[in-house]
This record gives sequence, structure tokens and C-alpha cells, in this order.
Amino acid sequence: MENRLLAALPSEEYEQLKTKLKPVELSLGEILFEPPDQIRNLYFPTSAIISFLTELPDGDSVEVGLVGYDGMAGVDVILGVNTASKVATVQHAGCALKIATPALKEAFNRGGKLQQYLLQYTHALMSQISASVLCNAHHKIDGRLARWILMYHDRLERDEFLMTHEFMANMLGIRRAGVSEVAKKLQHEGLIDYHRGHFRILNRKALEEKACGCFSVIEKEFNSLYKQ
Ligand SMILES: [Zn+2]
Repeated sequence: MENRLLAALPSEEYEQLKTKLKPVELSLGEILFEPPDQIRNLYFPTSAIISFLTELPDGDSVEVGLVGYDGMAGVDVILGVNTASKVATVQHAGCALKIATPALKEAFNRGGKLQQYLLQYTHALMSQISASVLCNAHHKIDGRLARWILMYHDRLERDEFLMTHEFMANMLGIRRAGVSEVAKKLQHEGLIDYHRGHFRILNRKALEEKACGCFSVIEKEFNSLYKQ
């Protein structure tokens, strides 16, 4: 698997950047940056999924966005902010290409397609974050879980993944006890197989029907990225 943003770059731009990119393996639960740290490195996932969490004053945290092979973790720096505002944590172990912040900024400031794609990606991410907030406040839990499984599935190489109860509770903004109940409901309907945090997608089409409308709104923008 490759990173879609990097793969869309014209070859001269990619060649210039390539020497600065270092392949890394990211492990589940690894924290890449968190407030109030400086963002020293940026990550273009190829198979890993990185989640952005905002911590609440009571210590709980809520997922507000995620990035896989479709983008880059750490867009704050291209907006001129080098301090992490969210916790960036690895939710699906896998590979990524790592680049030091000054090297990425230098390439970004040269303009070209990298700058254009990163700005378009940032816009899509902002839409994803605002849609997730709206969705969590207004839509039913089973539709939200279906949406989220699909967003995850779109960034994975396979139909199976592991997810802790704690993370799912964060992601859905509900108590841990409610998580199993909702996942089991989707299982009874034949959409997924679910056992001790292990998910397997059985019927993608039915999941799409179950998901609240936010899924198509969010993913439409991501699917149209890097095409001009
Ligand atoms: Zn929704």
C-alpha cells in the first residue's frame, strides 16, 4: 500500500521529497505527539491508521478525526502551528513515512502540488472533524458505529481489525457498557462479526445503508482529493 497524497505528486516533486522520508513501523497505542509537545515529525501513513483525540477536563478523551493512507498526520504545522493541539495516537498498527517538520515545511513553502494537496487535505480533514462532532451530537449510536466502521474499513487493507472497548467508547462518545450492546446489534443483523474487540465486516453494502448520511458527506470529499 502507498500513501495516496504522495503517490499523486508529480515525479520531480516526489523525488525531491523522497530522500527526506523515512519508513517507520507504528505500533498500536503509540503516541506520535500530544499537547503541549512540539510536533517534530509528520507522518504519511501507508497502512497504519492514526487517530486524533481531544482530552476532556474529566480525563476522558474523544476521537475527533482519523488519518490513514489518504493523508498526513500533523497538518497543524503547515498552518503555522508547531505545538500539538490534539493527541495523535496509532489506532491500527502499520507503516508510515516519517518526515522532520522543517523538511516538510521547506517542501511545502516551495509551492507546487504538495502545497495544493496538503491544503485540500486539511480542508477535507476539517470537514471530517466538524461532521463527526455534529454526528455524535445528533445521530443514533448504531448509525454512528456503522459510519465509523466504514471510515476505518476504507483505510484498511483487509476486512478485519481489532479495537479496544475503551477506544470505541471514546470514538462514539458513550460509556463502555454501551459499546458491546451496539456492536452485538450490528452482529445480529448480519453486518459484522464481533467478538472481544475483534471486528470482521460481513456485509459492506448493508453497513452503508445502516450508516447515517454523514458517511457519504465525509467520504465524498476524501474521494475527490488529489485529482486535479
Ligand atoms: Zn451521522
